[in-house]
Amino acid sequence: MKIVALAGNPNSGKTTLFNALTGSRQHTGNWPGVTVEKKEGPLKGYDQIMIQDLPGIYSLSPYTLEEVVSRQFLVQEKPDMVLNIVDGTNIERSLYLTTQLMELGIPVVLAVNMADMVRASGNTLDLKKLSAKLGCPVISISALKKEGLTELTETLKQTLSAPSPLPVFTPAVRKALEQIESVLGDKVPASARFWYAVKVFEKDERVLEELNLNDVQKKAVQTVTDRLEKEMDDDSESIITTQRYEFIEKTLSDCFHKKAKASDMTLSDKIDLIVTNRWLALPIFILIMWGIYTIAMGGTVVSIGTMGTDWVNDVLFGEWIPQGVETLLTSMGVSDVLASLIQDGIIAGVGAVLGFVPQILVLFFLLSVLEDCGYMSRVAFIMDRLFRRFGLSGKSFIPLLVATGCGVPGIMASRTIEQDRDRKMTIMTTGFIPCGAKMPIIGLFAGAVFGQSAFVAVSAFVIGIAAVVVSGIMLKKFKAFAGEPAPFVMELPAYHWPTLSNLLRSTWERGWSFIKRAGTLILASSIVLWFLQSFGFVDGGLHMVEDNNLSLLAAIGRSIAWIFYPLGWAGDMAWKATVATFTGLIAKEEVVNTFGVLYAGLGEVSEDGTEIWTAIAADFSVLVAWSFMIFNLLFAPCFAAMGAIKREMNNAKWTLAAIGYMCVIAYCSAMMVYQIGGLITGEVPFSIFTVIALVLLSVLLYLLFRRGYSGRDEVPVKTIALEAGK
Ligand code: GDP
Repeated sequence: MKIVALAGNPNSGKTTLFNALTGSRQHTGNWPGVTVEKKEGPLKGYDQIMIQDLPGIYSLSPYTLEEVVSRQFLVQEKPDMVLNIVDGTNIERSLYLTTQLMELGIPVVLAVNMADMVRASGNTLDLKKLSAKLGCPVISISALKKEGLTELTETLKQTLSAPSPLPVFTPAVRKALEQIESVLGDKVPASARFWYAVKVFEKDERVLEELNLNDVQKKAVQTVTDRLEKEMDDDSESIITTQRYEFIEKTLSDCFHKKAKASDMTLSDKIDLIVTNRWLALPIFILIMWGIYTIAMGGTVVSIGTMGTDWVNDVLFGEWIPQGVETLLTSMGVSDVLASLIQDGIIAGVGAVLGFVPQILVLFFLLSVLEDCGYMSRVAFIMDRLFRRFGLSGKSFIPLLVATGCGVPGIMASRTIEQDRDRKMTIMTTGFIPCGAKMPIIGLFAGAVFGQSAFVAVSAFVIGIAAVVVSGIMLKKFKAFAGEPAPFVMELPAYHWPTLSNLLRSTWERGWSFIKRAGTLILASSIVLWFLQSFGFVDGGLHMVEDNNLSLLAAIGRSIAWIFYPLGWAGDMAWKATVATFTGLIAKEEVVNTFGVLYAGLGEVSEDGTEIWTAIAADFSVLVAWSFMIFNLLFAPCFAAMGAIKREMNNAKWTLAAIGYMCVIAYCSAMMVYQIGGLITGEVPFSIFTVIALVLLSVLLYLLFRRGYSGRDEVPVKTIALEAGK
């Protein structure tokens, strides 16, 4: 089988082309050991060719995880061909990667994408000339409009020879590279020797580590490099970068003709003038988001999502399925225990989560529209200036935004953040944002303890955002996260109409992984929870119990409730609050359900638990209610979201770190609020816990205001900016 690696800049249309070439027969996974998505699939109608999608990259330097992954694949796995897709409307910058791909000793096919836009712009590119200059086939395509794909497919089927490296470098540099090549000799495969020589000349740390040169070789390389750096008065990496751009400029001057325009403003530019305007950007954004949330999750009248969810909850899982199943079970003469397991355990548990599906699908669909038409890139751009202040990049904003609906897709959305440490930090903090399922908890306490004040919901968001900001500032000072967020190099694609197939595909992809997780994890934990709730030790044996106070769940709750004593959870409410918190791990709306069961013995309470307000108010003082809410808002997310964290981190240690971090933050925050707040109001007497809370507060302030780690920034800003063609 022939392996064709698909390589190109982010936003060059790689995904669109990959989908067009492979159809639906794709296999998705992760690259080994990292959180970068890996996709492969056979060429449509021709199984002998496997297309391997590489992450979007601007160069083959080792600065981002994506670059490392891509070049490892290209150099070590040696695909049979590289299909290099470049954005025809941005050809100068795209060819920077091409010049590097041509050095690998692998046949290259260049696909110049966005033919439709190039035509519309009036610019012309002489493909024949470009192909002659580069020494590889050059094909003009439009991945979106499916133009030129037949010719491209035919070319991929041919056997091509590897191109010789392009005449990029000046004679002096070439001579130095030849000298390095002879030093490397048989240490590297002959076909990629030139590529290795360039990397050694650039002092690429990973390559040097891999080659492990002996002292004589190192010395020889250093002499060559030092001499040239001195001669040209520049560092070796910049020499290479500069000459690549000079080569591209020279090459294009012959075959690329820009249309002389009266005005350079396209319609897209004009829209941006308003949408990314200093003053208007934020209000426009808020308006759009308000619209989306109203349609997806707002009041029933306008909200398609809520109507769907109400139907699933009240009709499908409220009547049809339970009644149908009951009839079925009765007719089969199933035992009470089994019937209870199926009805109260599985159907109630899984149903509670599946109820969110309509809202989530509508939300995903609308967010896909914003993404596909190009607006999301603007949002990240607008937010970048704000987020940079506390160490996150504008791209972290999208995951946080999506997480207000549901943490699972929010965490999944962090994938668009290229820089590894920014992505990890975003994954760790996304769960702090109150998701749709935490709203009922807020509703319950707002109603029971705070006289239904809307302020409680607002404060939940403030607490969530504060936790994200505080984490950003605090974590950035640790070595693992230190350094500026990557400079914003995201391309702002021209606005265009989204395509329905794309929208449906991405809505379904996200929706399905939500449903799948709900179906597996929630199913299993519903069964466990049902068991713990329905059984208890009475009369010296394990029996089904009617009274919740006697259940295993109550016993477990009682035995660990002391952990929360410093948070003010004391007396009879302590075990109930503990149990509710832990059942919340299954799905956060379980918290209210559990209170319903524990306080009223009701099977089901309304969404915000109106029935138990009085009982709750008797047990929770204002302060304890705050402590409980803060803890539950910041505590480990539900299992589905933990699964998402695990998948995105793709590493057990980081997964534990992320979840552990949330638990610690939740516990410390709730304790500080209860102890220090209580000391101020006089509700809580001074004790050892007050001292601990004060110590925690000082540690927090210290972590916030200390001078952070300031090692060498891993990402030289200059290089990235150069690579971005700026
Ligand atoms: P990736 O980041 O390289 O995977 O890029 P995508 O495939 O996500 O494409 C980026 C944007 O360019 C999307 O909004 C696509 O719809 C759009 N796009 C891709 N190919 C074409 C094309 O040939 N013409 C036009 N006009 N837009 C395209």
